[in-house]
Amino acid sequence: MLNYFITKNQNKCSGCGACASICPHAAISLQKNNEGFLYPEIDKTLCVDCGLCNKVCAFENPPAKTTPADIYLVQHLDDSILSRSSSGGVFRLLSDYVLEQDGFVCGCILNEKHEAILTLTKEPAVIEKMMGSKYVYSKAEGVYSKVKEKLEKNQLVLFTGSPCQCAAILSFLGKPYENLITAEFLCHGMPSQTAFECYLKSKTKSLDSLSEIQFRDKSKKGWGLVFSFLKGKKKKYGVENTDSYLYAFISGYLNRYSCYECPFAGEERYTDFTFADFWSVEKFHPDINKEKGVSAVSVNSPKAQRIKKDLEELAFWQETKREYVAFGNPAILEKHSGKAPAIRKTVYETMQNNGWKYCEKRFFRPKHYRLKKLWYSLPRPLAKAIKVLIQR
Ligand SMILES: Cc1cc2nc3c(=O)[nH]c(=O)nc-3n(C[C@H](O)[C@H](O)[C@H](O)COP(=O)(O)OP(=O)(O)OC[C@H]3O[C@@H](n4cnc5c(N)ncnc54)[C@H](O)[C@@H]3O)c2cc1C
Repeated sequence: MLNYFITKNQNKCSGCGACASICPHAAISLQKNNEGFLYPEIDKTLCVDCGLCNKVCAFENPPAKTTPADIYLVQHLDDSILSRSSSGGVFRLLSDYVLEQDGFVCGCILNEKHEAILTLTKEPAVIEKMMGSKYVYSKAEGVYSKVKEKLEKNQLVLFTGSPCQCAAILSFLGKPYENLITAEFLCHGMPSQTAFECYLKSKTKSLDSLSEIQFRDKSKKGWGLVFSFLKGKKKKYGVENTDSYLYAFISGYLNRYSCYECPFAGEERYTDFTFADFWSVEKFHPDINKEKGVSAVSVNSPKAQRIKKDLEELAFWQETKREYVAFGNPAILEKHSGKAPAIRKTVYETMQNNGWKYCEKRFFRPKHYRLKKLWYSLPRPLAKAIKVLIQR
């Protein structure tokens, strides 16, 4: 039986759903807890104690580690793709490579109910929806079996997702497949769908009136953290940590408990590729145009090295150092803190009892909130000119 059913240790379950997917007796289902995170539950009358669920649990039986070798600064050469990607457009580089070979891509979309789900496709229109970060926990259950089915038919599959989801597919499969490419983003944690919906409900009476949600809209301020959506026909923005959801996300107040001590974080990796935001790029590579977004890509396996060679002409690649990336993004080298922020539990309880707007005022505002709001409201050229004056 799955060890989690004995310990009920929430730090040791990412809610990946591999256990439920593998169970031949449908004895395991995923249920939402009061914070909106999924955890497995067992129907003991159906369980025959075959142990398959424990075998595919990446926390209990982690997949084989890869060897992160080289790390590169990467920026897609197609400006249109770059503008719709969160950072340097690495996801589209890889997904186009796989589509060209008639392969399938697994990635995250927001469905019409604004729920984040992992899905498998070869439809360009769906891949378009996978582009861009969705800073919310994505449901993955069900996708693992579909991926396995394609792999068994010798079809090429690109699996993208969080480090725990990539570890989950590898543990679920239980053996290496040459026709599988795994690519994870560097992740510091995921808030629950319930928290995200609570935020969205603070913006509208009807969630149906919201569309085109983006967490990393580059159109207003260039590369950074800008949340945007259409409310009816009106576009709304929330910039950096003056937006309450982005503030809560960056502060780690809303993460799943397992995120704080994620076993798949740190220098050792399990996937072919790891991609990250290269926030500190201008300090070490001053010639790059940072405004458009830049990724750092860790090439972790011989398979990834071969694919990288095929992709060299489609993007700007420059070798860099892990220490340079870690300057603005320590998670490329370090494990997570291991501890949830002291107020995390209170935040979720208060959200349930008093709603998002109350939490916003109490927990989700940075220091000098009004000044920052004013700063972000300035037109970009004016803000740039002021910055130059200050730096003189
Ligand atoms: C919850 C979350 C936390 C993150 N934390 C960090 C971090 O701490 N440091 C860092 O450098 N980068 C982080 N990222 C990744 C970063 O935001 C960029 O998405 C990444 O660098 C890829 O950018 P891109 O330009 O290559 O492609 P994009 O087109 O932006 O890439 C999109 C890719 O992300 C996947 N994706 C998006 N949302 C989700 C989701 N909710 N669940 C599963 N897969 C998803 C898509 O399927 C696709 O593979 C995080 C992303 C998410 C979703």
